[in-house]
Amino acid sequence: MTRRGVKRAFKYRFYPTPEQAGELARTFGCVRLVYNMALGARTEAWTLRRERINYNTTSALLTGWKKSGELAFLNEVSSVPLQQALRHLQAAFTNFWARRARYPTFKSRKRSRRSAEYTTSAFRWRDGRLTLAKMTDSLDIVWSRPLPEGASPSTVTVSQDAAGRWFVSLLCDDVIETAPASGAVGIDAGLDSLLTLSTGEKIVNPRHERRDRAALTRAQRNLARKEKDSANRAKARTKVARIHARIADRRRDYLHKLTTRLVRENQTIVIEDLTVRNMLANHHLARAISDAAWRQFRTLLEYKADWHGRNLVVVDRWFPSSRLCSTCGALAERMPLNVRSWICRCGTAQDRDVNAARNVLAEGLSVIACGGGVRPQRESSRTGRSSARQENPRATKGIPVL
Ligand SMILES: [Zn+2]
Repeated sequence: MTRRGVKRAFKYRFYPTPEQAGELARTFGCVRLVYNMALGARTEAWTLRRERINYNTTSALLTGWKKSGELAFLNEVSSVPLQQALRHLQAAFTNFWARRARYPTFKSRKRSRRSAEYTTSAFRWRDGRLTLAKMTDSLDIVWSRPLPEGASPSTVTVSQDAAGRWFVSLLCDDVIETAPASGAVGIDAGLDSLLTLSTGEKIVNPRHERRDRAALTRAQRNLARKEKDSANRAKARTKVARIHARIADRRRDYLHKLTTRLVRENQTIVIEDLTVRNMLANHHLARAISDAAWRQFRTLLEYKADWHGRNLVVVDRWFPSSRLCSTCGALAERMPLNVRSWICRCGTAQDRDVNAARNVLAEGLSVIACGGGVRPQRESSRTGRSSARQENPRATKGIPVL
């Protein structure tokens, strides 16, 4: 058993007083405005003058905006969340330049996440009570589970979801205990099941998901029938948001349990680098696994593998995992999506998804064994691309909420 110190976010619901709700709503608005203005300034500097503006420059711009009469209201909220918004924008640009993300986009009043981040200078943590800057009362937090003993948050993020619920996320030091594991598993994002493991196990969608989705469809139809700007429409919109939130909550719980189990049981985990866009082209698959679910699954796996010292290998999507026989290595000509099982020339009956998961595992193990993972008979070697790479979780990555 090894012990390891990590940063971990603990998220709770809270119920603000009307004053606190007002203060936070103003802060969210200012955060969005500052982010958008800084993004505008950076875009303009680049398109007009081929000039790269960094965090320090946007910080100086912010000081100027606060002094201008028009934007003096920025002084009314805590300055820390505004500075953090500039840091988030800097991170978004860093990801863009490193080709990890698209060009940053403006935050929309309706669609963007309403949130504000406070660092230690902007909150007080005393006797388990959290008080944010510009507020007199501490937040009324529902402690649904305890913080680690003696924990003291270093960053606090307040947010409100589309269903109107308030959340506070506390980033704390925690200790992870890890036992060695010997297993190795390949994972395929399947058609009929959510995921298929190389062990033959098929993981279906979370319980209730089908019923929740049916309810969501009904609520969305109901919303579409409501008159614009009516009170009934607002009510119907909240209902849709609540069902969305319920689906997301259940799915997150489910993926947490699943990824924890996979990481506990296996020293090596191999997944495919799927571009969900390709998958969503297939309507059937779109229902089985949504964009968000797969990304969430991968994010959870990445940081848990990092915590527990496991190998997470990501195999490129060009690699023909479903057409390759995992027993003899023969490559089938075509494999339409409706073919669920097939018999290879070597005589082996292959389940499409299990076969794919086994291939993913074999590819991943070869990456670990020889570093390159390019096999002569495989298609990827002809494209000239390395068919897989070792995933190296970045220290700067945001820490997902538990
Ligand atoms: Zn075969």
